[in-house]
Amino acid sequence: MNQTNRPISPGMEEMLGVVHEVLDHGKLWVVDYMGNDDAIVQAARVSYGEGTTAASDDETLIRYLKRHRHTTPFEMCEIKIGVELPVFVARQWIRHRTANVNEYSARYSIVPDKFYVPSLDQVRAQSTVNKQGRGEPLDVASAERFRHSCKVNAAVAFSDYKDAIEAGVARELARSLLPVSMYTRWYWKIDLHNLMHFQSLRNDPHAQYEIRVYAETIHQIMEAWVPRAMRAWKDYVGDAHTFSGPEMEVIRDIVSRDDGPRASFPPGVGKREQLEFTAALRWDV
Ligand SMILES: Cc1cc2nc3c(=O)[nH]c(=O)nc-3n(C[C@H](O)[C@H](O)[C@H](O)COP(=O)(O)OP(=O)(O)OC[C@H]3O[C@@H](n4cnc5c(N)ncnc54)[C@H](O)[C@@H]3O)c2cc1C
Repeated sequence: MNQTNRPISPGMEEMLGVVHEVLDHGKLWVVDYMGNDDAIVQAARVSYGEGTTAASDDETLIRYLKRHRHTTPFEMCEIKIGVELPVFVARQWIRHRTANVNEYSARYSIVPDKFYVPSLDQVRAQSTVNKQGRGEPLDVASAERFRHSCKVNAAVAFSDYKDAIEAGVARELARSLLPVSMYTRWYWKIDLHNLMHFQSLRNDPHAQYEIRVYAETIHQIMEAWVPRAMRAWKDYVGDAHTFSGPEMEVIRDIVSRDDGPRASFPPGVGKREQLEFTAALRWDV
């Protein structure tokens, strides 16, 4: 291994350059990164100084920062990944504006013959509960017919595209023949705070399957990179739920009844956190 004076994350060092397969032709790999759990702590201590001594250890401090939405220490960590993804996934992904992106240019280069065809189990009917989503699996014959159309459509489009290039049509125009299932490639750089935000939106059952699988792959990488920050993210964002004012009233009403639910806190939830929770519920324990 190369010697370096940089602070490293041992888990992330193992991830560097490892290519993760996603969907049928997709790929995702870590190109570079900066920072680790200690960088978050270091930034927090410079900003809060002596005030942070109450947080007895680094993990407690990271949990405190996440719980109270102190975001900037998490911006001290950055990651750069390479991704190969279908254009319709890229279109959703690019909406995350707080990243830096460089994409393969189909004006400059000829695009590869790679098109997304969903697996049989992912060809599903329109959801009846979520207007944007998919629901039950389709019957096998209909699903196979759709997959066949995907393949034929891509083959015809790519053949027309090649013919157009050979006939001298400019690449920037010839590409307009290609469907949104075609794969593109980019480098994507983002800080940890905004990547956690990306996780909360795209590693979520409401997100489309085809972007969710990329988010799940990134989640594994994040757990290797900043394990303590990701434990805090899981507790205060990933597994958490925000209740509205009216919902809080209902919950307060339930717990205030004599026969209301009584449960103890799981290990790891500190005294201060317990007090904040019971105060929010106005729960007299
Ligand atoms: C399940 C799902 C369904 C969706 N459906 C649709 C849809 O039907 N149509 C559609 O158009 N989009 C849709 N989106 C995209 C969505 O509206 C957001 O554009 C996308 O999720 C990026 O979120 P973001 O803006 O919070 O993230 P980022 O762009 O990464 O921004 C992160 C945060 O930075 C701040 N920020 C960034 N830029 C600005 C700015 N210019 N001004 C102020 N604050 C800023 C905001 O606080 C923002 O939350 C959908 C997203 C999801 C997850």
